[in-house]
Amino acid sequence: MNTQDYIALEEKYGAHNYHPLDVVIEKAGGVWVYDVEGNKYLDCLAAYSAVNQGHCHPRIVNALKEQAEKVTLTSRAFRNNQLPLLYKELCELTGFEMVLPMNSGAEAVETALKAARKWGYKVKGVKENKAEIIACTNNFAGRTITIISFSTEEQYKDGFGPLTPGFKIVEYGNAEDLKNAITENTVAFIVEPIQGEGGVVVPPDGYLKEAYEICKANNVLFIADEIQTGLGRTGKLFAFEHEGIKPDAITIGKALSGGLYPVSAVLSRKEVLGVFNPGDHGSTFGGNPLGAAVAREALKVLIDEDLINKSDRLGKYFINELKKIDSPHVKEVRGKGLFIGVELKDEAGGARRFCEALKEKGILAKETHENVIRFAPPLIIKKEEIDWALEHIREVLTMA
Ligand SMILES: *Cc1c(COP(=O)(O)O)cnc(C)c1O
Repeated sequence: MNTQDYIALEEKYGAHNYHPLDVVIEKAGGVWVYDVEGNKYLDCLAAYSAVNQGHCHPRIVNALKEQAEKVTLTSRAFRNNQLPLLYKELCELTGFEMVLPMNSGAEAVETALKAARKWGYKVKGVKENKAEIIACTNNFAGRTITIISFSTEEQYKDGFGPLTPGFKIVEYGNAEDLKNAITENTVAFIVEPIQGEGGVVVPPDGYLKEAYEICKANNVLFIADEIQTGLGRTGKLFAFEHEGIKPDAITIGKALSGGLYPVSAVLSRKEVLGVFNPGDHGSTFGGNPLGAAVAREALKVLIDEDLINKSDRLGKYFINELKKIDSPHVKEVRGKGLFIGVELKDEAGGARRFCEALKEKGILAKETHENVIRFAPPLIIKKEEIDWALEHIREVLTMA
């Protein structure tokens, strides 16, 4: 079977909820992926930052294999010997007090929203069913009905109503707007430190700190959605560290498992996650020993291979070199660490054609929104590989 055969099958039998680039990947290792025709590509998306540690990292693959031969799923009806260790290691690494494990990122966000509401009623004293949660314009937090209820992207909501009430929207990057939106019923503000799906949008310096102070002054939980920005992507363990704050809660996912398995979590204080009692919330697969063993190793790899500092160092280099490209199409290059967006001018004809041209040269990147190309390779990438990519990116960004 060749590329076209696989695409035909996918189009025939699968729901069309994605518009992938027409490359059919068969195997991968590190920063490289290989298609069914044997072509090799540098992965500059890293599965939306889920493979920060690189594809099929040998240590993480080994942890998966070893655990798969012991026990994979106990459900939380019984305990297992991996989850407690993941809890401890996560708390020691991050400085948070408590963990609630889930699978997908969307589930972690749902969990954080549930925790915030319950905290609002049980701790803050908000009247029943009055809790409000504030989110930002251009946010992305997943695809469940509740999460899309506070999306500002019309397509994400179209046809999926009735939506979940209880959300307010403020302008991303505008702390004053947040301040004005808070009422006595506000329980939480949820924000991405850098908006990934929104187009690698970096808010003004000081915004997160100001928003955090406003939340603190009003007894509102500041929840950072670090599912994409976390675990080294922006050159810090978490992107909130760039502003020296400590959120009341964070959501993590994606790279938590190095891309081998869906593992997500909410991290917070006892006062917040302590609102859950047995039976309040759960997930059959959440906290399973296979996921926990994989996540434990994925976190160790991040530290042992110094990937956070690498992201910082190589990200600065990559961004600077991208800025030097004299392209008629580029409006702005922005980002932190190896989380980089190249925004094109409206006249450039959309980012898609540039991503397709990059693919022809052996680089996989994906447009986000119409006009942004995201460059977010695995954090294990080498400087020589970035230099190789830059050569081709230069060619593509200077084409007609
Ligand atoms: C990807 C993402 C999510 C959702 O994660 P899924 O695993 O796709 O459900 C939530 N928030 C942010 C910021 C993300 O980038």
